[in-house]
Amino acid sequence: MTKVLLATEKPFSPAAVKQIQAVVEEAGFEFALLEKYTAPEQFYQAVSGADALIVRSDLVTPQVLEAAKALKIVVRAGAGFDNIDLPTATAKGVVVMNTPGQNANAVAELALGMMVYLARGCFNGKSGSELRGKTLGLHAFGNVGRRVAEIAKGFGMHVYAYDPFLTKDAIENEGVTALASVEQLYDTCQYVSLHIPANEQTRGSINYALLNRMPQGATLVNTARKEVVNEADLLKIFAERPDFKYLSDVTPDCAAEIAEKFPGRFYFTPKKMGAQTEEANVNAGIAAANQIRDFFQKGDTRFQVNK
Ligand code: NAD
Repeated sequence: MTKVLLATEKPFSPAAVKQIQAVVEEAGFEFALLEKYTAPEQFYQAVSGADALIVRSDLVTPQVLEAAKALKIVVRAGAGFDNIDLPTATAKGVVVMNTPGQNANAVAELALGMMVYLARGCFNGKSGSELRGKTLGLHAFGNVGRRVAEIAKGFGMHVYAYDPFLTKDAIENEGVTALASVEQLYDTCQYVSLHIPANEQTRGSINYALLNRMPQGATLVNTARKEVVNEADLLKIFAERPDFKYLSDVTPDCAAEIAEKFPGRFYFTPKKMGAQTEEANVNAGIAAANQIRDFFQKGDTRFQVNK
């Protein structure tokens, strides 16, 4: 019988797990669960007989793939799949998928929530500032970027986007001004919100040259990945520009230094929690289970990222 393993070091909500299990069992597959594992060996052991694997941010390393002798498909319940070793999976003929869009609203609400929080002095009771009338630049206009745009427009922000993989029309049809270069985005926007994936092109790409283009009252918002920001450059801009602020759901390695030197100019979530809502858990988990069912039953590879 086809065995589907849900392996999550940081578990889904119990309601989401129940619904994932229901989809798997209704499809006639066996469901197995590994949660809160503390050593990679537990993962190797659990995955050894699995035909399909659902993970969250769990690292799917060459060792995991080596242990998973029967594995045909791994689905990252979420958007970013930089935790999965794609070259090894591809070499082993394992299909890798993500579940695009399923957690976009949760991440977008968090981005805007952090912006309000810092603009209002972390709710310190003193006079703060408003988002209305401010310029917001979306660095990438995928599922999260588009949802941030919708909410930000409700706040009365002026929204711009840069995404070289989309046409101007695709962006402007959503009521957002498309900018032709990344430099223009940083020149124009007081708030820049990062929605790029972490990959070879983007790692370390948010650097001093870009950040220093931002107008006075600059706030960088990062719900994407910590690796896309060059941290030495981040510290430099913090030191040179007293107006610069940073909000992040993906805490930088230099967080302690920022906290010590630049109090009041940052907020970092205690743990990555952009997708941590009941709704996003259920949406992404069920999408992953459905995609596995459709892969085995219909050969559907629509969401494959290693074609
Ligand atoms: P998505 O795949 O829907 O969109 C990504 C967009 O980035 C695409 O439109 C693509 O054209 C664009 N892009 C790719 N390379 C680019 C580049 N070099 N410059 C500009 N644009 C580029 O992904 P999404 O759902 O919008 O999520 C975006 C990222 O956010 C994910 O890759 C993931 O790393 C991160 N994320 C974080 C959390 C969290 O919990 N904080 C949750 C979901 C996603």
